[in-house]
Amino acid sequence: VPRPNSAAARDVRSQLHPYTNPVLHEQSGPMVVTRGDGVWVEDERGDRYIEGLAGLWCTALGFSAEERLARVAYEQMRRLSFYHPFGHKAHVPGIDLAEALLAMAPVPMSKVFFCNSGSEANDTAIKFIRFYNNALGRPEKKKIISRLKAYHGVTVASASLTGLPNNHRDFDLPLAGILHTTCPHHYHGAAEGESPDAFASRCAEELEALIQAEGPDTIAAFFAEPVMGAGGVIVPPPTYFEKIQAVLKRHDILFVADEVICGFGRTGNPWGCQTFDLKPDMIACAKQLSSGYLPLAALMMTESVYEVIRDNAGRIGILGHGYTYGGHPVACAVALETLAIYRERDLFGHAAAVGPRLQARLRDLADHPLVGEVRGVGLIGGVELSRDKASRQPFDPAQGVGAAMTRHLHAHGVITRVIGDTVAFSPPLIITEEEIDTMVDRVARALDDTLAWCRAEALVTA
Ligand code: PMP
Repeated sequence: VPRPNSAAARDVRSQLHPYTNPVLHEQSGPMVVTRGDGVWVEDERGDRYIEGLAGLWCTALGFSAEERLARVAYEQMRRLSFYHPFGHKAHVPGIDLAEALLAMAPVPMSKVFFCNSGSEANDTAIKFIRFYNNALGRPEKKKIISRLKAYHGVTVASASLTGLPNNHRDFDLPLAGILHTTCPHHYHGAAEGESPDAFASRCAEELEALIQAEGPDTIAAFFAEPVMGAGGVIVPPPTYFEKIQAVLKRHDILFVADEVICGFGRTGNPWGCQTFDLKPDMIACAKQLSSGYLPLAALMMTESVYEVIRDNAGRIGILGHGYTYGGHPVACAVALETLAIYRERDLFGHAAAVGPRLQARLRDLADHPLVGEVRGVGLIGGVELSRDKASRQPFDPAQGVGAAMTRHLHAHGVITRVIGDTVAFSPPLIITEEEIDTMVDRVARALDDTLAWCRAEALVTA
């Protein structure tokens, strides 16, 4: 007898799933997640899993655990279920949330523009940067640089910023005028014996060379995440951003920090910008802004960027950009309450306190025969699988080692994603040291099982 609401009673193949192989999906069907509780989620069979990636880097507060957020959403829906921000309209949760964000921003910011997703926030940044440079009478200053392996979203423009082949291939992207510079991954990018500092200098020199080749007067902005998340948890060398920001300053290039993953405590500080001393002109944030309870994103900008945009829009008569649901009152009310919970429970302090446990436990895996590099900071971590430790050679993607690792993680009750060769970790900020231990113990067993599978498939000799 099928359980009520079970997959057997429904067609589980009716969705086209993002970032999924549709052919394999039709064969095997999805894992149907039915409920969540703190760092745990449950599937329709009643099996429980620890969520190692916070359901795609989102749920700082875990799943369904916050009565307060449900209540605030309910009350806001009953008071004012919806209103848009167009044409001199505002609502109280939007005003209060904008003020809260400006008050906590890592560098002085003057305005907040609400969006529904991280992609939209980055897309909006690109449009505002065009609007800004047109206002300044330099229409040729339009090109944008991001980094190889960056992830900034999937709309036509933000997918162009993304520096990963699958986001471009057969989509006819990137758009002209969006360029990619060196990925600051020392483990793969550095020459033999090149120190992290020397490698950082070379990354800055390669950025400078790209700017010179294109013409400094044509480069409008540089986009970067403090730690690259969906590109494979790549932590830059300590001196990287200092050198990159010097190049940007020299050529009057705006800096957009993408805090969609790193923002709200992930790296052990409220913002990733603070962990790496970034001084951006704009900041995009989303995900943990509402702890994933409702879709919401924000783009913050400095006063000097804002005033140019304001004057141009004033001259034209309108700022012709905005989303119907941007800054939805229910989402804003939930986000405000989320920020209040972060504050009251000192969750950023908690992340800073338990982060070293995650890092230490993951680093214990570095001796495993399948592990090439372990990296991370705070509550974001990556374990890179490697075919050969000495040569740092990756597996051939066609060999399916990442998929095998995902299967074994699943069998041991851990959900995360294997990005390229890297198992990514970004658990809810509420995770305890005990839960970190449980998760990493399970990951160690999944690594052993994956190694056994690799041996059976003759993919490794060790
Ligand atoms: N920027 C970063 C750094 C991200 O990780 C993501 C999503 N993983 C995005 C932007 C895009 O956000 P969304 O999926 O909400 O469009």
